Amino acid sequence: MKAVVYKGTKNVAVEEVPDPTIQSPTDAIVRITTTNICGSDLHMYEGRTSVEEGKVLGHENMGVVEEVGSGVDRLQVGDRVVLPFNIACGTCRNCTQGWTSFCLRSNPTEGMDGAAYGYANMGPYDGGQAEFLRVPWADFNALHLPPGTEHENDFTMLSDIFPTGWHGVELSGMQPGDRVAVFGAGPVGLMAAHSAMLRGASQVFVVDKEPDRLALAEKFGATGIDFSTGDPVEQLMDATHGVGVDRGVEAVGYQAHDPSGEEHPELVLDNLVQVVRATGGIGVVGVYVPQDPGANSELAKEGRIPFQYGQFFTKGQSMGTGQAPVKRYNRQLRDLIITGRANPGLIVSHELTLDEAVDGYERFDNREDGWTKVLLRPGT
Ligand code: NAD
Ligand code: ZN
Ligand code: ZN
Repeated sequence: MKAVVYKGTKNVAVEEVPDPTIQSPTDAIVRITTTNICGSDLHMYEGRTSVEEGKVLGHENMGVVEEVGSGVDRLQVGDRVVLPFNIACGTCRNCTQGWTSFCLRSNPTEGMDGAAYGYANMGPYDGGQAEFLRVPWADFNALHLPPGTEHENDFTMLSDIFPTGWHGVELSGMQPGDRVAVFGAGPVGLMAAHSAMLRGASQVFVVDKEPDRLALAEKFGATGIDFSTGDPVEQLMDATHGVGVDRGVEAVGYQAHDPSGEEHPELVLDNLVQVVRATGGIGVVGVYVPQDPGANSELAKEGRIPFQYGQFFTKGQSMGTGQAPVKRYNRQLRDLIITGRANPGLIVSHELTLDEAVDGYERFDNREDGWTKVLLRPGT
């Protein structure tokens, strides 16, 4: 089959690789109809991870069940499904508590809990930017979708970024009526803004400097704050008459930069501590890694981010972090899509064939104007 394969820094190729096979009775094989390029894929693409050459990429996958193992009894061949990016066993201590992103059994890598398709350090699993994908513990992991092709661009967001944005809001402790500031108007930040609106925020601000992304935030009912035109903390304080916001969501990650483009991994965390009111909450879904060889400070290279912890403590704020447990939210989010209340597919900017993936990676990585969310359609 054809697949997107990691070849080295800023180098992916579409190549012939062996078809996946059933390796355990609880596996299924899914024929991929849509698979997305994610901001998280860029960490690997930019050579900031230890991902091995030859890995098939792609953790945002949906499709149709092609084959099931002898131990699969809920899923059936022909079912349309979306796959959470987390690969989870469903029965360990963390999975049974709803923390599928910290599954204790799916990742054999020393010191790592939780696994994903096609990702560095997240277990030996190939990704779904390919014609077919092996899905472990398929009865547990796959979420059924209505048959047909309706809502394809919305449902594909259930594999990662819609539940991840929702999780950022959940971690912030948001209550109806709260004011929320989301940092980052990439796909994850936009989904956090959409989620906060759906959950009854009184006002949502989204901070970024990319005009096309800020315009999308406004489409979801949020107020855009352009950090290239002035200090975002001052802008948010002015907009809230000096009170600050109740909740903040971090959807940028360790590659946070200032308006000139220089990276400061602590910048957004500092901004959030300043702008969230005392006793408010901060949800961090932007990724911070134990080691970032590409960082511009020695501390950040070791994964030590020297943010304003003193002020965080003094203000009695709380902070939640980590990979999103997609399964915990995605049935409800699917139903919000089916009833027309949620429209996450609004952020899709490009729908490409698998063969066009190389170009898609390059342009998405360059943050070319209008390249917000890129979908690949292996069957086309
Ligand atoms: P992205 O790179 O497309 O978006 C990040 C955005 O942040 C960009 O638009 C950039 O302009 C903006 N930004 C940079 N510096 C900023 C600053 N100082 N202030 C405000 N905005 C700033 O990425 P994405 O796909 O939206 O993902 C965002 C983060 O979420 C990444 O770190 C990704 O790895 C992570 N992620 C986490 C999970 C999870 O489960 N926790 C899942 C998916 C993605
Ligand atoms: Zn993703
Ligand atoms: Zn588990």
